[in-house]
Amino acid sequence: MTERSYDFLMPSVNFFGPNVIGKIGERAKMLGMKKPVLVTDKFLEGLKGGAVEQTIASLNEAGVDYVIYNGVEPNPKIHNIQEVKDLYEKEHADSLITIGGGSAHDTGKGAGIILTNGSDITKLAGIETLDHALPPMIAVNTTAGTGSELTRHAVITNEKTHLKFVVVSWRNIPLVSFNDPTLMLDVPKALTAATGMDAFVQSIEPYVSVDHNPITDSQCIEAIQLIEGSLREAVANGHNLKARTEMVEAEMLAGMAFNNANLGYVHAMAHQLGGQYDAPHGVCCALLLPYVERYNLIADPQRFAELAEFMGENTDGLSTRDAAELAIKGMKQLSDDVGIPQTIKDIGAKPEDFELMAENALKDGNAASNPRVGTKEDIVKIFQAAYDG
Ligand code: NAD
Repeated sequence: MTERSYDFLMPSVNFFGPNVIGKIGERAKMLGMKKPVLVTDKFLEGLKGGAVEQTIASLNEAGVDYVIYNGVEPNPKIHNIQEVKDLYEKEHADSLITIGGGSAHDTGKGAGIILTNGSDITKLAGIETLDHALPPMIAVNTTAGTGSELTRHAVITNEKTHLKFVVVSWRNIPLVSFNDPTLMLDVPKALTAATGMDAFVQSIEPYVSVDHNPITDSQCIEAIQLIEGSLREAVANGHNLKARTEMVEAEMLAGMAFNNANLGYVHAMAHQLGGQYDAPHGVCCALLLPYVERYNLIADPQRFAELAEFMGENTDGLSTRDAAELAIKGMKQLSDDVGIPQTIKDIGAKPEDFELMAENALKDGNAASNPRVGTKEDIVKIFQAAYDG
């Protein structure tokens, strides 16, 4: 056995299950929150009986004051985090409660970063770049999902350069997360599919990552099995509480896995598509997954053959290589079954952008853990394959 040493991050307190959201007021009070900024978007703020309304009811009951920022955008931009910071300071707030999917949590994390670590967040891109703790933060998660409610990543888009960058630090991990599947029952089909495929990619990439370990492997395996067993059902019938619950469990497991084993070229390249074309992150990931993993397959066919088994493919009597191929086929099949578009052409990708996007993908924080070391030309070819379909 090779010698291993690693630091393993675990999120601190996580409330999980139907109706746990009712406990948020009490928990905010326990954390000493007197006036949090609720970081969300207009749609979720207006949703009758939704996460924002339920959070406010619980804060009121606990006697905790609040102020609302409702300007979160998908693929959150630097101006979003600046707006939260300005409101926080103007209102003399003392903490953050993010309510929504990855975009809300990353907006809150980004604001927390510039509140305590210096105003230019672009200078803090990278791994463990933060010297100071963020203000106390609770994340109420409403998609399944990015895992951002319990990860050390904040993904922000620079609207001037169209570059999406990541600040990775243990200081980014919210103190408490809430994952209440009843808040996800009305998530529309396309969003359920996109966010579910993000969780799927986040359980595949850490499994084949160069940084994987036995703890993250077990999280990936369980997440893959849960997603294979429930994502199609969650898309077909959003009110299937069992499927929604299993998808939340899967996205939490995947979040913990990639928090520690990191990701790979799918995310490094998806960040370019998201930054350049403002396309939904989960869709970008799903569209790239089979092409990146076909490229990666020769780096470790055995692990891809194992993936095929976890995905429920029948690998009896097959060679390692043939079993590994089944994993790639299964990835595309899941994507098709839940209605993800066919090619990156469908989200506005243009071949003339591939060179620059490939160059930037190799600089993305996620590239270093990819199992196969690629060149710019390799990445351009993968973009082209995902474009041609
Ligand atoms: P999102 O947060 O961008 O939300 C997409 C849309 O879904 C929004 O319009 C929102 O109003 C709506 N929505 C959210 N919850 C809903 C609900 N319960 N019902 C109906 N509509 C709802 O989507 P996302 O996929 O969760 O987040 C994507 C972002 O997260 C990307 O920027 C991506 O890069 C980032 N990300 C971050 C991490 C991390 O660890 N920090 C990991 C993966 C992805």
